[in-house]
Amino acid sequence: MFPVEFPREAIDEAAARVVSRLTRAGYEGYLVGGCVRDLLVGKRPKDFDVATSARPEEVRALFRNSRIIGRRFRLVHVLFPAGHVVETATFRKNPTQDEQLEGEDLLIRSDNVFGRNHEDAGRRDFTINGLFYDLERRAILDWVGGMEHIHARTVQTIGDPVVRFHEDPVRMLRAIKFAARLDFGMSREVYDAAVQCRGMLAMAARPRLSEEVLRLMRGGASQRSVWLLWEMGMLDVLLPELSTYLADCEDDSHVWALLSEVDRAITDDAGSLSDVLLWAALLVEPLLEACDQTSDPRRAARDFLEPVIERLNLPRRIAESVERIVAILPRIEAGRGQRQQKSALYPLALRLAALRAVARGERPTEEPAADEGEIELGDGPTKKRRRRRSRARS
Ligand code: ATP
Ligand code: MG
Repeated sequence: MFPVEFPREAIDEAAARVVSRLTRAGYEGYLVGGCVRDLLVGKRPKDFDVATSARPEEVRALFRNSRIIGRRFRLVHVLFPAGHVVETATFRKNPTQDEQLEGEDLLIRSDNVFGRNHEDAGRRDFTINGLFYDLERRAILDWVGGMEHIHARTVQTIGDPVVRFHEDPVRMLRAIKFAARLDFGMSREVYDAAVQCRGMLAMAARPRLSEEVLRLMRGGASQRSVWLLWEMGMLDVLLPELSTYLADCEDDSHVWALLSEVDRAITDDAGSLSDVLLWAALLVEPLLEACDQTSDPRRAARDFLEPVIERLNLPRRIAESVERIVAILPRIEAGRGQRQQKSALYPLALRLAALRAVARGERPTEEPAADEGEIELGDGPTKKRRRRRSRARS
């Protein structure tokens, strides 16, 4: 147990109320997961999750304004004003292999076995995500060694990384997300296991893959994330179109500079960029190359995107928008974009052109439309290149 005092205003009041009602009713209740991790590293948590010994029906009975969601993994949403939701989950444990009736491999198909507090910590993915905060005692409960790794700034799986990545390959992308976003290292074991298991990404549920790629793009650390994906060989599995482009092009610095502008736009504007723009920014360079010198750029872009749609379950309407943005981009960048102004995608194409211009150290050719926000001119690209090997911290 580690006594830790968080400033009162750092903790979501609604989540604190949920915990206090649970404990007054005789159940255990803790803040868990990402919020505890973020509070410990001094970041503002996105949301506050609660874990409890109370069963879903019992939680439901305690809060009038709540509902049980999920069929297999049932949890309770406690509803507060202004659409605020506190996700409250009953402790679960990792199903042991003999309880896993559905398959003989390690892939987890059911994770709905109730358990005790320390078992719930143990089923989580990384030690830094397995910490519980006891609001009454003002203390962190740590059964998984997470505090040590918070201090060492290291991403480490709970248990053997090879086993944990086989259970759920998406955890490899989550390892990258946390390392990139928190600027943590990965333990040597986790790094090597992910390199070894990267092929398994092809077996993960495809909608989860595209969602996780978007999370990497959205977090304000897309450049570091994509760099790690590339360096660890995961990009070859997820987006070989981009990894071959990076390997073959003479100078890849424009790819990294653009991603770093995306990160800057997200961080400085403290807002988000649309999913279409994020996919377009990720794929624009190989796409432009594919479209270059063809008589039918839209067709070329479509052919390029088709395998991505298949592999990652990229929604077709997003792919189509990306295709159209890339088709009009060269005209906008040549200052001949006026005729495209009626296109609904014009503001997005303009914004992408502006990001690319800033990434190249130029001024944007046209001012971005107001509804996509102003873009500040920075000091040019920060070519923050990482060494290709020896990334892991042990
Ligand atoms: P973020 O700030 O991106 O929301 P998070 O850590 O809260 O980060 P979530 O995806 O919201 O991530 O998941 C909440 C918690 O659930 C995690 O902190 C982790 O403890 C657990 N978790 C999520 N996904 C997995 C997984 N694939 N395997 C095991 N545990 C997981
Ligand atoms: Mg979360």
